[in-house]
Amino acid sequence: MQQRSIEAVVPAPQFTEGGGFIVHRPFPTVRLDQVDPFLLLDEMGPVVYGKGEAIGAPDHPHRGFETVTYLLEGGMQHRDSAGHAGQLRPGDVQWMTAGAGVVHSEMPSDAMLRDGGASHGFQIWVNLPRADKMTRPRYQEIPGERIPVWKSADGRVTAKVISGEVESTHALIQTHTPIVFLHLTLEPGASFTQPIEAGFNAFAFVFAGAMEAPGEARAVRPHAAVVYRHDGDSVALQAAPGAEQLQALLLAGRPIGEPVARYGPFVMNARHELEQAFEDYQAGRMGHIPADVTG
Ligand code: MN
Repeated sequence: MQQRSIEAVVPAPQFTEGGGFIVHRPFPTVRLDQVDPFLLLDEMGPVVYGKGEAIGAPDHPHRGFETVTYLLEGGMQHRDSAGHAGQLRPGDVQWMTAGAGVVHSEMPSDAMLRDGGASHGFQIWVNLPRADKMTRPRYQEIPGERIPVWKSADGRVTAKVISGEVESTHALIQTHTPIVFLHLTLEPGASFTQPIEAGFNAFAFVFAGAMEAPGEARAVRPHAAVVYRHDGDSVALQAAPGAEQLQALLLAGRPIGEPVARYGPFVMNARHELEQAFEDYQAGRMGHIPADVTG
């Protein structure tokens, strides 16, 4: 297999997002708008909240794409206008297709609100093609213990297969366009190679340890995205030697290649569709979270 070379290493410095969240966000930023079909990557935290300090995102809408939440530490509760509710624990993944429109709340768990504690996870926005933007909302939630795990023969590489597949280990999540989403853990010095289909965009996000980066002056350390060129049929990750495990997400997908019009919680193809989304939300056409929905 021919390894893809690195196009860019994009740092994701910590900043405080509007709602008061601490995030590392490699994109969208001035430097990198998107990695089509991925519109946004937020590493939430890592942060340790004191009692009563944990914050979340109360009722807000989305239309035109999917929000994917993968939790490493802490607890979150989700409720939405389509009647879905869930409690996310460490290791769980939630894949919500907003489609035509969903109002949801993403709040810390009651225990997290009361007691505080460590919080760490990811939210990824996956775009939908024009033909699917107004699809019916869908909610998929996979508890951590059901996420398929691939291990290398020597046991030094572990891949949690959230979407797509590694060899014959297939994910449970269903996607609208083909998406590879792996959580990789490599022992120091270990390497992992994943075939990537021709034409797919691919990037890795390093959040622990250090990754050797051929062609770069130094190893890639948290928190940074490594965006690959299209000059090969695989992506290879190599953990730097030393004492630290490398942990990274590997994401790849077929670019949608359509115009992106985005504003706040809506991602459409044209400006007038954003205006329509606001109008529909304000008129209550994306619904309301039923009072009796609990996770
Ligand atoms: Mn949201």
